Amino acid sequence: MAMNTAGRSGQYFDDLETMRSEVREQYLNQRLSQVVSHAYYHAPSAREILEKAGIVPSQISTIRDLEKVPIIRKPDLIEWQRRRPPYGGFLAVPPEDVERIFISPGPIYEPLHSSRIKWFARAFYAAGFRKGDIVVNTFSYHMSPAGILFHEALRDCGATVVVIGTGNTEIQLQTMLDLRVTGFVGTPTFLMTVIKKAEEMGHDFRHDFALERAWFTGEMLPLSLRKTLETDYRITTSQAYAVTEPGGAIAYECPQQSGMHFMDDYVIEIVDPETGKQLGPGEVGEIVVTPVHNIAWGLVRFGTGDMSSYTTEPCPCGRTAPRLGALVGRTSDAIKVRGMFVVARQAEQVVLSFEPVSRFQIVVKRQQQRDEMGLRVELKDEAADREQLAAELGEKFQNLCRLKLDRIDFVARGVIPEKHQTIVDERTWK
Ligand SMILES: [Zn+2]
Repeated sequence: MAMNTAGRSGQYFDDLETMRSEVREQYLNQRLSQVVSHAYYHAPSAREILEKAGIVPSQISTIRDLEKVPIIRKPDLIEWQRRRPPYGGFLAVPPEDVERIFISPGPIYEPLHSSRIKWFARAFYAAGFRKGDIVVNTFSYHMSPAGILFHEALRDCGATVVVIGTGNTEIQLQTMLDLRVTGFVGTPTFLMTVIKKAEEMGHDFRHDFALERAWFTGEMLPLSLRKTLETDYRITTSQAYAVTEPGGAIAYECPQQSGMHFMDDYVIEIVDPETGKQLGPGEVGEIVVTPVHNIAWGLVRFGTGDMSSYTTEPCPCGRTAPRLGALVGRTSDAIKVRGMFVVARQAEQVVLSFEPVSRFQIVVKRQQQRDEMGLRVELKDEAADREQLAAELGEKFQNLCRLKLDRIDFVARGVIPEKHQTIVDERTWK
């Protein structure tokens, strides 16, 4: 794939980003069948998993076929690596061909055979990083992939990188000032810490600093914080969804800031975490990824534990990959109601966005062979118009969580204890 050479005005990093959807499907299917076959013949544990499921590689020729493959999650990987050190039987190249080994908490050892993989570069390019930018990379350069991979990807976009790593707000601040840094790579919280510190020291951040753009991952970017950074400090913000174990950025934002485009170096599925079945656009499920760029790592179907949904609606930016929505929570705080998942954190975002609400709880019951989902609400303000509130709440809940509430009950203050579960499952199955 040829890199776009149009400099700062070039819109796309490479041709993959604008593939027609049929071409993408073909491309990914082909890569997928290659990596599955490679893993089967070179990584003993990958083979064992497939054999146990009664699968031979020739049966995996499309993304849809992946449904047959069991999902591996972080605890499984830790266990495999404990039993078969150091890579758990997932290394699919000769050990001497491993260029780098990353270490994630667990520990999990992640082999990478080639640093020539460009997958993060697309994310930084879409965020506007180019030659002429001077960027502080505030992610750690040791153990985890973040520091070094982001560094190289920024270089692929032409930017100059300050090898600063994590921590030490005052040094970060001084460096940004002295070097006229234009780009920040890190977490939104850390950028805000740096800005606040600068202000404490008497700086006018917008005036004294040259920061133009910031790229975030590893943390939620709340809308209010994004607005503060963009409006008050005039910093263009961008974010990506990355997961360490399969090795990188899974999805990334374009300037439209409306979801994160799937990265074409992975096969990305949104699935029902209980059955492993693939879900369609708009349905909330677990993000499951299969890297198709790193043949050293025979991981097929890694379950991230993160819940989200995706859309295939065309994006005005011209990138054609589907877009991942915001993360709505973890599989551990999701329950299935009428075949759809409700995630505690997503429900919180919806319900607590209503000013008069102080506490709430979702109660799921089984009534006449049907799941009944009720919302109990405590109000801060007893004078609130309950009828109107119930109507608005019900509508917003259905729009965002895609499930209809059967009832909304306003309860007296104190009925819901201070420490309470967001979702209570009272269903009994007879
Ligand atoms: Zn886009």
